[in-house]
Amino acid sequence: MASVHVGDIELTGLSDGPGQFPASRVYPDHVDELHHYAHLLDADGNINQNFGCFLLRADAQTVLVDTGNGPERDGPLLRELEAAGVSPADIDVVIFTHLHGDHTGWNRNREDGTPRFTRARYLVPKADWDAGIEANRDGGSFNRDIRPLQALGVMELIEGEYSITPSLSTLPTPGHTPGHTTIVARSGGAEAYVVGDAFLSPIDVAELEWVTSWDNDGTKVVPTRRMLAERIEASNALVAASHMPAPGLGHFMVVDGRRTWAGVDFSGK
Ligand SMILES: [Zn+2]
Repeated sequence: MASVHVGDIELTGLSDGPGQFPASRVYPDHVDELHHYAHLLDADGNINQNFGCFLLRADAQTVLVDTGNGPERDGPLLRELEAAGVSPADIDVVIFTHLHGDHTGWNRNREDGTPRFTRARYLVPKADWDAGIEANRDGGSFNRDIRPLQALGVMELIEGEYSITPSLSTLPTPGHTPGHTTIVARSGGAEAYVVGDAFLSPIDVAELEWVTSWDNDGTKVVPTRRMLAERIEASNALVAASHMPAPGLGHFMVVDGRRTWAGVDFSGK
């Protein structure tokens, strides 16, 4: 398993499958500059991405960050959880970095609509809930995966710096979505940041100012990325990011004066 320790916390990278996106569609304002990052793209100019979720074991709690695309895309999230020794009933807390459909898909069983993570509290960023209620009156993943959690009595709306467990807390990181949330793990002097889609690809790490076509508010995403990069570098924190190459765990390093994503090497494990 792709697990690392952050003090006493165990952080595991899980995948719900791969994805491929043309870089020119992700960065439409920077098509002419993409050749600088040819080494990060495939021969057809695609960014090869991961649909990542993360498991945190901290303070005797098992916390799942995001729930992937769901059964329609037949991704491996549930199998990866099983390989990590975790059944859906073992999850105490599900928390969402944001409410896009590739982060909420496994929330409920399709057959009967019950929560898949039967014992879990589902922590939902309030600003994304508010935006979802506003935008998704009919259909969409919000209505399928999120809205019913309220009637099921398993949902809690969160905002600001919310304490999940003594060593896990949230940090508002708006921009990709209004309620986009980072989870900060702190133990024994070590830190990790589960940054969701605040950094979508290694290109975002080098180019903090490049707004992607999926960012809801570019005027917020750039200061959010600057703030995160500053904090991450100040503590040399581990970073877990949803769409970085699987399993999505790495560090920010400065190479030749440029900030670079350096994935944790699990090849020997
Ligand atoms: Zn995403």
